[in-house]
Amino acid sequence: MNSDAYFGFIQDSKSVITKKSTDKELNIVSKSELFSKMFSVGDRDYLVSVLQKSLENLHDNLIDFECKYSSKNGAKIYWAVDYDDVLIGLHKIVSKRKVKTINYQPDYLYEEVGLEDFFKKEKLKYSDVADMQFIKADKLVCDVGSILIFDKNMSVAERLNNGNINVFIVGIEQLITSMTDAELYSMLMFSTAKKDYNSTIFYRPQVRDNDFLFIVDNGRSTMLSMQKQRIALTCLHCGKCKKVCPVYNIIGDEPYNNVFAGPIANVILPFFETVESYKHVSYACIMCGNCEKVCPMSIPLKDLIVENRIYFRENKFVDSIDNKRYSTYKKNIVSRNKMNKSKLFRCAALKKFLGKSFCKKRKMPLLESIPFNKQYIKKNQNNVR
Ligand code: SF4
Repeated sequence: MNSDAYFGFIQDSKSVITKKSTDKELNIVSKSELFSKMFSVGDRDYLVSVLQKSLENLHDNLIDFECKYSSKNGAKIYWAVDYDDVLIGLHKIVSKRKVKTINYQPDYLYEEVGLEDFFKKEKLKYSDVADMQFIKADKLVCDVGSILIFDKNMSVAERLNNGNINVFIVGIEQLITSMTDAELYSMLMFSTAKKDYNSTIFYRPQVRDNDFLFIVDNGRSTMLSMQKQRIALTCLHCGKCKKVCPVYNIIGDEPYNNVFAGPIANVILPFFETVESYKHVSYACIMCGNCEKVCPMSIPLKDLIVENRIYFRENKFVDSIDNKRYSTYKKNIVSRNKMNKSKLFRCAALKKFLGKSFCKKRKMPLLESIPFNKQYIKKNQNNVR
């Protein structure tokens, strides 16, 4: 979906709140109920394909979700183009409803949106029983128009109905097509992400003006418009890929300066933030492929990082000096004649490629006196003898 189509879809979706639904507003499924059903590898593969498919039809599914969600009492969805849009919407609610206290559990999306700073700016105080409570929406379930919420300490159901203002913030990609798929997804989360949940709640607002659902884009539609990269939006944020990444294990969170870090961040950050500010993270990868082996959603992270690099180059995000430098490098490394030159020649060429600034802070990498190709031939000849 490109940004034009996205704006079009926001316009369309505002005018299609018509259908009726007979589903329950609050449906709680306990962990033991979910585990009484077996979750097999086949189920996982099925779910991966379902989530990928729901991204392909996201435009229609979101419109469908809005119809179902709003059909009972006209509960409103706020379509936010970016995180600033969310904050503007929240500011309006805070002013109109004279909100003084808030309540929330830390979450990566809240960090991304910048809620902490917003609370400080608005002078909102934290309270256990608050005027406005932020409840983490995990998925939007399309066929029943409900919000899927994982409840850790069995308190969410109570809070949802205490008459205070409920705020949900969720990315446009967090949509799941049917209730059956949502149950499978819950089982995957219980078993794979090992999160400490006790129950799953499927919620639809009962009182028109107490629930505010923000569905936010912030670069996600750019990724959706990219045939290959869009699969990264099925990420569960389980963190497994970064644990096995040798680069992340050395550099840690700091260079990312973001809630996302590691292989998945290398793919999505240039789009969730800006290409200019985050394209360098797509080069923080040595192509070992460890991340792909552990990803429960089978996201081909290594390939996507390569796709990002191709995208930057084709769309002129790589500056002309770097472009020239890499074409010369490529020309040299595919030439057997050049790679077999003397150590002195190869050292001089590498130094030129890396540039003066590299050698100011680091030692030059050591090169072998005999090139790899010659060593390989010699080793093979010895083996034959
Ligand atoms: S392992 Fe896969 S699902 Fe988990 S955070 Fe990484 S990309 Fe996302």
